Amino acid sequence: MIKSETQNLAAAVKSDFPFFANNPDTVYLDSAATSLKPQAVIDAIVKYYAQYGANIHRGVYRQSMEATEIYEDTRSTIKNFLNASKDYEVVYVRNTTEGINLLARTLGLAGKLPYTAWENGLQKGDVIILSESEHHSNIVPWQMISDRLGLEIVFISIETNGQLSMSSFEEIQNNLKNKCVKIVSLSKVSNVTGIVHDLEPFKSYARQKGALFIVDGAQAICHNTIDLAAMDADAFVFSAHKLLGPTGVGALVARKSLLDKLPPFLGGGDMILDVTKNATKYNESPHKFEAGTPDIAGVFGLKAAIEYLGRVGMENIYMWEKTLTKYCMEKLDKAGVYLFGPSITDLEKMEKVGVVSFNIPGIHPHDVGTIMDEHNICIRAGHHCCQLLMQAWDTSATNRASFYLYNDFSDVDRLAEAVQYVKKIFNK
Ligand code: PMP
Repeated sequence: MIKSETQNLAAAVKSDFPFFANNPDTVYLDSAATSLKPQAVIDAIVKYYAQYGANIHRGVYRQSMEATEIYEDTRSTIKNFLNASKDYEVVYVRNTTEGINLLARTLGLAGKLPYTAWENGLQKGDVIILSESEHHSNIVPWQMISDRLGLEIVFISIETNGQLSMSSFEEIQNNLKNKCVKIVSLSKVSNVTGIVHDLEPFKSYARQKGALFIVDGAQAICHNTIDLAAMDADAFVFSAHKLLGPTGVGALVARKSLLDKLPPFLGGGDMILDVTKNATKYNESPHKFEAGTPDIAGVFGLKAAIEYLGRVGMENIYMWEKTLTKYCMEKLDKAGVYLFGPSITDLEKMEKVGVVSFNIPGIHPHDVGTIMDEHNICIRAGHHCCQLLMQAWDTSATNRASFYLYNDFSDVDRLAEAVQYVKKIFNK
């Protein structure tokens, strides 16, 4: 029943994605790296260049003013999409990576912030809490600032199935009783396991410590509805390209009370109110953080992507992926593949989006990926920018198939057939 209902979702949307007409017979299972773009998004980008053309903010003519209006209005589109209250503000960035770098860099320069642990800026010995399942984007920027300021990074370890270990977290809390924890930064959804983490205990701890609670939303934003009001993060970061939008644009959605106290990130045009030979008066946030000409076309595309997803319905996407994921895990399991992350029985008790990491025992993931490509199947092979997770699993790489609204059961069938073929070639 579910199978036929949800199959209609892929059938209903597939023709919206020109990739499939341009790449007939191709199975695209790499949406966790980047999603395909519907025609509506491509049209919106073209519309900016073909119809408006002008730069924003500074023009006093119609094309510039209208483009400015769409660019600025998209901040509200994003806030509505995330259920962000008026306490939040949207800062455009290039991607999740840049958003986290912006936070790490400006927090490194910040003084007093409206959080009890932040009476002073970052001091030697202050603690940042991350987890072993973070993407490098949510590790390296913090390491860079820690190296400069002598901070300590503590990693919550993972259970074998990729869940954040609560016993490790308990131990951390005991060890850090007398330490000043300034930042807790975690991803809501893992790009390797697809687990939708329950971040509530970590947020409570951050609140108790008077620390900042930051969420890497790169994978969370595209698979299900986000309720930022309930999540109560101080900052939430995402990239447009994961949710059907263009590459090169994303957003940092953060509390205005925090952004107002942070220093600018980059200096230049648009982020100023007044420049003299001796000093510069900065613009207010969010403009304070948006130096130079931004990716205007990208913002047009992001708006179209959010509107498109609104028409499809995020819950429909989540349900569809859930069905496909289970089907995929069962098929791969039957094909003798080793599944990383949650087991099939785990699916009953945990939330997981359409990301399946696996290895074919005895065959290097890169060989698997290359042979899959010969069969027009796009999957990923590597560490997925999560080397700490690979180290925890004592492996260097996995294969990863990731689904989105345009995939269907036949894609999984093709993947499973190709697995059998690879095994035959390697005599496994
Ligand atoms: N965090 C997570 C969980 C991700 O999956 C990704 C992208 N794979 C990123 C951060 C980084 O996103 P981007 O490359 O768009 O900056």
